[in-house]
Amino acid sequence: MKILVANLGSTSLKWRLFDAAGGSERLLHKGGFERVTDYPRAIDDCLAQLREAGHIRSEADLAAVGFKTVIARGVSGCVALDEAVVRAMEDYSALAPAHNPAYITGVRLFAARMPSVPLVGLFETAFYQWIPEAAQRYAVPESWHAAGIRRWGFHGASHKFVAERSAELLGREDVAERARRLYVDGGASPVRDPALRVISLHLGGSSSITGIRNGVAIGNSLGMSPQSGLPHNNRVGDLDSFAVPYAVRALGLSIDEVERQLCKESGLKGVSGVSNDIRDIDAAAISGNAAAARALDLFVHEARRWIGAYLVELGGLDALVFTAGIGENRAELRSRIAAGLEGFGLKLDAARNDTVRGAEGEISAAGSPVKAWVIPANEELVVAREVQRFLQSGRRPG
Ligand code: ADP
Repeated sequence: MKILVANLGSTSLKWRLFDAAGGSERLLHKGGFERVTDYPRAIDDCLAQLREAGHIRSEADLAAVGFKTVIARGVSGCVALDEAVVRAMEDYSALAPAHNPAYITGVRLFAARMPSVPLVGLFETAFYQWIPEAAQRYAVPESWHAAGIRRWGFHGASHKFVAERSAELLGREDVAERARRLYVDGGASPVRDPALRVISLHLGGSSSITGIRNGVAIGNSLGMSPQSGLPHNNRVGDLDSFAVPYAVRALGLSIDEVERQLCKESGLKGVSGVSNDIRDIDAAAISGNAAAARALDLFVHEARRWIGAYLVELGGLDALVFTAGIGENRAELRSRIAAGLEGFGLKLDAARNDTVRGAEGEISAAGSPVKAWVIPANEELVVAREVQRFLQSGRRPG
């Protein structure tokens, strides 16, 4: 069963093709285009590459195209991307302006180009369907909550992969199986004691931290929109809600301009004044730029606050996991974020930490009761798996 997973940006199309036969997935092909101006043509070129590589004769050989969709009103989980769901994504475009419009346009173009191929979305909110109610609520009037003003959580595919893989690495096949089957049975598959407690740090262009108990999320640092939680590349992270009306009145900004600045001129870029890329910010900090150093300090500080929150909620910890561009590649930030946690049972191994880069590896010291790992993000694989399950469960689209 060949499943194409398409990653859609406003001017980019990246893809991975999996052969997902019999419960195991094999990556057949990956590629992508940046600076896309003609999206329909980019889709055609993608199909041409898959044909030339001998993986498909035509799009009819694709069992489905899977998408890591972000958020839609009243929809989560793994679902057929019919027009009603796409309209529900449109309803929430204002919450994810950097993500939803690109997916909406892209999904419609895929639908026009290959009307007989099922299009299936795994929403980034899906991993948080079972978080406790207290972790979903904001303290707003009930009418606001009913209107969808609540914590959703994002990066679900990434944190779900960490839930599965960390359990495998820690020798807890029971928990790995529960995590793998989560979207099938809602976490009903049996696990033994003691509970496995993991904190997953997805640190990249967007960053989020999730507490995971026995393979199931208990919460996520991202709330209603991908502009919350930790500071992101150019998006704000947590901000007191009263700062927005204050900025409108005191700085004389329109609400659209406030939105733009919180979404494009804030986060690491806003604080550092240097760049939205940690590599540039780090280089600037090393050469003495105080604002760049401040941005890094803020990032580390916020990450540690969320670790503290989940450490308490989980009642201790078995493993701390770093993933995504920063988590996989920036050893010095990992060591700053995990510093001084010996009292909680975690001791990093400096040499191991310095060596692990862009690959899976343990970074805790031998004998550290709490383990620390780098697990490279594998979101497309999670999408391919869930799309395969979706098709096999008979919930066929259309
Ligand atoms: P996105 O959320 O856009 O997928 P990534 O997970 O690729 O982003 O993370 C992007 C961030 O990770 C960038 O700010 C960059 O600083 C950092 N990063 C990515 N790759 C590397 C690398 N090979 N070496 C160092 N830093 C990296």
